Amino acid sequence: MHKVILRPRREKSILRFHPWVFSGAIADIVGDPREGDLVGVFSSDGKYLATGHYQIGSIAVRILSFDEDPLQGDFWVRMLSRALALRKACGLDGSAATTCYRLVHGEGDGLPGLIIDYYDGVCVLQAHSVGMFRAKGAIAEGLRQVYGDRLKAVYDKSSGTAPYKAGLDLVDGYLYKGAGWTGDEARVLENGNQFCVNWNEGQKTGFFLDQRENRQRVGQLSRGRNVLNLFCYTGGFSIYALSGGAVHVDSVDSSQRAMDMVDRNVALNGFDAGRHTSYTADAIDFLKAVPEGKYDLIIVDPPAFAKHRGALKNALRAYQRLNEAAIAKVAPGGFVFTFSCSQVVDKEAFALAVFSAAAAAGRSVRILDRLNQPADHAVNIYHPEGEYLKGLLLYVE
Ligand code: SAH
Repeated sequence: MHKVILRPRREKSILRFHPWVFSGAIADIVGDPREGDLVGVFSSDGKYLATGHYQIGSIAVRILSFDEDPLQGDFWVRMLSRALALRKACGLDGSAATTCYRLVHGEGDGLPGLIIDYYDGVCVLQAHSVGMFRAKGAIAEGLRQVYGDRLKAVYDKSSGTAPYKAGLDLVDGYLYKGAGWTGDEARVLENGNQFCVNWNEGQKTGFFLDQRENRQRVGQLSRGRNVLNLFCYTGGFSIYALSGGAVHVDSVDSSQRAMDMVDRNVALNGFDAGRHTSYTADAIDFLKAVPEGKYDLIIVDPPAFAKHRGALKNALRAYQRLNEAAIAKVAPGGFVFTFSCSQVVDKEAFALAVFSAAAAAGRSVRILDRLNQPADHAVNIYHPEGEYLKGLLLYVE
């Protein structure tokens, strides 16, 4: 195997099980690894530390194993079984009310560069690294062994996530199709609510599984309320609000495709169409035009405003402006559920942006809860960067 030799004292983070080797920590590379190849990582005095996928870039090695005897034949089956065991332990896999969850959350499952979402027997995979992209055949085979007859299909949706510079053949498609499988959609249940998921046309793997528990919270507080769901995508929060007894829900997203799916999901759950209105619009413009007090529950779940550190300052300003508008508009005694999924915006910075927004809006605002990503988006304790979703539940008078 190719060897990556670290500079003196640069082995410390690996000894603490951090799953990345940065290019600046490398003294020498012995052999000629191609991007995506397995490499052994060694300290400057020649001690074996770990094995991982090599890639050209700031993260040079993504660690897959810290064991002495790395990556034996059953590696994928072992790792995928571990991931499934966690989802079983949390009551997600095998639940009658929820038939979709994230099976593999990258570093959180010891598999940096890999995301797998499970939709009632269909696994949708996104490789974020060359190594995972190259391993996708073996991963699909591992999924067949782990799920057995339950597995209906495995779809690779890496074209937007895998590095395009590495000369990979980035064409999405099925890695496995069970007998009789057709189409690109599944109907799933999430806490008893029905959703149609289309991984081919939808964003990411087709559905935002990370908001499952926060949607339930919205459902619990929606009875008798007029709800506005901004950046609604396929209407996750809207469906929970309707089943929770909202008087009326308005859903807003700039994507027409997403809004078409919201309408399908409203119909699928059998709600009276008169209780829901879809708007294909810019959420910020829409909010500006909202009369004060019209809504007594507003959900604000924008896309990541900061994708890298350089964008942090502008992103915080954007979060502040958006939240100020939502806080200003919500009816007295109303709730605002506000989120940020930007990994570079930490909890404290986000809370500060929302505090500034509340102050600028001049309303009395209390924090009722701090919201997070759920258990199937587990955070590796040695890789706190994996914690990305944060939210606040506000009560506004
Ligand atoms: N709350 C959703 C996930 C939101 S993802 C859920 O529970 O599933 C962010 C969404 O914001 C995407 O659907 C994207 O289409 C939408 N979006 C991005 N920019 C927007 C804008 N300026 N106005 C309205 N929607 C926007």
